[in-house]
Amino acid sequence: MIPSGIKKFIEDHRRFLISTHINPDGDGLGAAMGLKWALTRMGKQAEIIIDSAPPSVFDFFANYQWVKSLAGGGGVSEKFETVVAIDAPNLERLGSVTSIFSENARILNIDHHISNENFGDLNYVDHNFASSAEMIFEIIKSFGLTADKDLAEYIYTGLIIDTGRFRFSNTTQQTHVTASELVAGGAEPEKISDLVFYHRTLETTRALGVFINSIELYMDGKVATAEFDYEYMHSPGWKKVNTDSFVNHALAIEGVETAYFLREIDREVTRVSLRAKHGFDVNALAGVYGGGGHAKAAGATIEAPLDKAKQILLKETAKTLG
Ligand code: 5GP
Ligand code: MN
Repeated sequence: MIPSGIKKFIEDHRRFLISTHINPDGDGLGAAMGLKWALTRMGKQAEIIIDSAPPSVFDFFANYQWVKSLAGGGGVSEKFETVVAIDAPNLERLGSVTSIFSENARILNIDHHISNENFGDLNYVDHNFASSAEMIFEIIKSFGLTADKDLAEYIYTGLIIDTGRFRFSNTTQQTHVTASELVAGGAEPEKISDLVFYHRTLETTRALGVFINSIELYMDGKVATAEFDYEYMHSPGWKKVNTDSFVNHALAIEGVETAYFLREIDREVTRVSLRAKHGFDVNALAGVYGGGGHAKAAGATIEAPLDKAKQILLKETAKTLG
């Protein structure tokens, strides 16, 4: 059920800023595109503005030029009174976009992360949804709008990204029902899978090799780590590397219950992607370092060099799995 107040919020406002988290993925972007599609049809105005440059992999989306980024100081002088934040668990994850909120901005927060901090004036937060895109689709349907091919592609992309192509534990009967509606609306599963998953750069494919060679197992093989150090992440060609979903190769190893992919993005700063199967809760673990996400997929930034960050994570994990 869409909480009461959400539809009224949309009906009562005329101009919206739509945003999603830094380093946006196909779910945040697909959901944002979907909402703008709907608001436009309702005769309203909406701008999609995000912190970081949108990844080119989604440039098959119709009207992808809707997505603007503030990266590089790209001048947006307007301040927005009405904001819809999508797929972001807290305001920090929106990055610099908060700088274009007006002081009294009204914020609608739409998200499926269990770690969502309910930061909006109005919150539609439900971790039972596999993706934020599905939540947007529910809202769109509640306004009686019928999907066309463009919308179906936006939402379907969010759905397949966040369910790992219908493999993760968040995949339910409802996910498939929604997928079926989207295919009926014009989304072509093979075309979208091909565009999203079979367009790896050579640099990404080689980086996957480096990732796999760096895997180490701990705690009787229950914990896997993999890592990219600072030098590798600043080597030639790095900009063409997309590491999304690499971590799943570490999690897929038999006996592994949790996997950590550490990236030394700066000299004293390590980003980590955490994944789990079975009962281990990586949202809780990421939370120790100010990160979050879902029970089985989370992320965090640890203010430490790679080796130190790894030690810290393994020590914390040993309390449960050691
Ligand atoms: P990934 O490892 O793919 O970057 O992120 C996995 C999940 O955790 C995603 O749902 C993502 O939104 C969330 N996540 C990643 N990094 C952070 C973070 O620093 N803070 C919070 N709250 N969530 C994160
Ligand atoms: Mn999502």
